[in-house]
Amino acid sequence: MRNWMSLQADFGNFQHRRNVYLFALKMSFFAVILSGVVISLAIPPLGFFGLLPMTSAHAVGFGAIFSWLVGGMVSGMLSLAAGFALHELTLSRAEFEKLSRTDTLSGLLNRRAFTEALENTEGNASLVVFDVDRFKAINDRFGHACGDAVITAVSAMLISAFDEMSVVARLGGEEFGVIVSGEPLEARMERIEGVRVRIASGAIAAEGHDIRITVSGGVADLAAGRNKQAVYASADRALYLAKALGRNRVVHEREGLHHAWHGLVDNSPDAEGRGTESDNVMQAYGI
Ligand code: GH3
Ligand code: MG
Ligand code: MG
Repeated sequence: MRNWMSLQADFGNFQHRRNVYLFALKMSFFAVILSGVVISLAIPPLGFFGLLPMTSAHAVGFGAIFSWLVGGMVSGMLSLAAGFALHELTLSRAEFEKLSRTDTLSGLLNRRAFTEALENTEGNASLVVFDVDRFKAINDRFGHACGDAVITAVSAMLISAFDEMSVVARLGGEEFGVIVSGEPLEARMERIEGVRVRIASGAIAAEGHDIRITVSGGVADLAAGRNKQAVYASADRALYLAKALGRNRVVHEREGLHHAWHGLVDNSPDAEGRGTESDNVMQAYGI
């Protein structure tokens, strides 16, 4: 009842048409009460000074009709008009809000929405950053449109591989972020590794080509009190290591540190000839 009586107009309330009608009904109800009160306060002094052109009983009757007709109907109609304007405004605001959080190519969340979700995630979860391997070569060989089709296909695979407890986003280019929650770490790693294997084992059909791709992933764990930027940076370093170790693999941050300290990587130059794998790992981990 208290809620019903409240005239406070919250934007969210106007998302549903039903609430617009309820708002108009409330406004007319209050207008009727208000004009009823004003009329009943005005009649006694007017009657006392003989200014009423009718008996007080008739004046009360007319007053009641007047408050329903003018107060109720006019304010109801005005409130309906205002309510529907707010309804439209609320819908376009919701649409705008959705667009500002969505990546247009893939339909996934964008980096902004992902960062927000990461900030709001607490406890038992891992962050994985996936990056398509040698994506530039796919663009160069098959064209940009095929590159886009690969991004869309990878997005669909990620969405179907992770449940609704997880958050999947396109961070930019051919890089994707996933917050995997709700399972023990081993199960999360199995799921992430499974995604990598599934992507590597199929081909993506685009414009008459069957494009085979692989992805690399870097994983870092969220923990109570751990800075989210540090988690992101650690996942990024693990991804860098996965690339340095030859791509088409998932590296967990702990494994990354292990490799970095024990120099378990190959000492020959990497595929781009940028340096040895161990150089790259050392550089990634600032050693
Ligand atoms: P690595 O295995 O080290 O990740 O190599 P890479 O070639 O995947 O990495 P690099 O960052 O050099 O290339 C990414 C390319 O992705 C470069 C850029 O032109 C392309 N790219 C970025 N955004 C889009 C997009 O929206 N669509 C398409 N088709 N290509 C994009
Ligand atoms: Mg890449
Ligand atoms: Mg990239």
